[in-house]
Amino acid sequence: MKGLYVHIPFCLKKCRYCDFNSAVMPDSIQEEYVNAIICEMAEYRKTEVDTVYIGGGTPTVLKTDLLKSVIDGIKNNFILLPNTEFTVEMNPKTADSKKLKMLFNTGVNRLSIGVQSFCDEELKELGRVHSGNDAKDAIKLAKEAGFENISIDLMSAIPKQTLKSFAKTLETAILQNPDHISCYSLILEEGTPLFDDVKSGRTVLCDEETERDIYEYAVKTLEANGYRQYEISNFAKDGKASRHNMKYWTMQEYVGVGLSAHSFLENVRFSNTDDFKNYISHNFRSGNKEVLTKSDMMSEFAFLGLRMTEGISETVFSEKFREDIFEVFKKPLEKFIKTGFLVHKNGRIFLSKEGISVSNQIMCEFLL
Ligand code: SF4
Repeated sequence: MKGLYVHIPFCLKKCRYCDFNSAVMPDSIQEEYVNAIICEMAEYRKTEVDTVYIGGGTPTVLKTDLLKSVIDGIKNNFILLPNTEFTVEMNPKTADSKKLKMLFNTGVNRLSIGVQSFCDEELKELGRVHSGNDAKDAIKLAKEAGFENISIDLMSAIPKQTLKSFAKTLETAILQNPDHISCYSLILEEGTPLFDDVKSGRTVLCDEETERDIYEYAVKTLEANGYRQYEISNFAKDGKASRHNMKYWTMQEYVGVGLSAHSFLENVRFSNTDDFKNYISHNFRSGNKEVLTKSDMMSEFAFLGLRMTEGISETVFSEKFREDIFEVFKKPLEKFIKTGFLVHKNGRIFLSKEGISVSNQIMCEFLL
């Protein structure tokens, strides 16, 4: 079954590390953009989906009635199957009870809140617009609005972050009792203010050893508190793994609507324009289109599958591609199973604990 991603490229303020296609824009432009995405949705009329993810940017920057128009546009153009997982991303600073109640009442059943850290000094380094207390308030408001599936994003390798400060953030996070926690490392992107500061020596990044210690601490602490690691950077309580993100890791089809959104349909990946003016003039596509060959598909299936702790099923691989995975990836499988970085058990192949720490090198060898 397909998933739907809708991109809202607006933010309250640009974070210092962010190179996403997002910007601060006035309400009138936001309205024009919402009209354009609803128009693009009409191209997919009657497509059935069972996950919806409105991301950005910060979708909750939109005024309540505009955000509702986006949701109505989705419901009017797509067929949402029973039990659809419907997620909206939210910045803690944009949480207000009226908006949250509207989201809940219109069928949004999952919130993904960009917390990053509960330490105000680290949030300042990142240029986030909110404080740790704002994040706690946002989670509380979301629960009061009725949400029973709340995910929070945390970040590691933030400048000035230590194992101790991360442990405090994680302790605070667990006390808020979210259902799902994503924990990604900060990636330094060229062209961002943070990149320039690091390059000029004004800011010093967290060292690799601390980053490794933080990751190990996060896995151990989250597992001990009932959050099962189901992907390299994602942890969830029972039944609360992100069904939408699982679609990306298991190579299922998805439709992407909005500025610079990507779609993957019938083995073809194509993207929308990343030029805002073009997009609001209803010139939606970028023209970039990639037809995946069988080799591409097998490679992606393998290295995306290895991101998940349950790994790849031999049977699913052979049903999907009519090939034996041990024939197709003979060399890397033999090598990494022998060195203990991969485990082959009960018809599945997955990364060992040691393998996770060198996962990028392992995945590279699955390119055909
Ligand atoms: S809120 Fe998210 S999308 Fe917006 S600037 Fe910050 S990191 Fe980028």
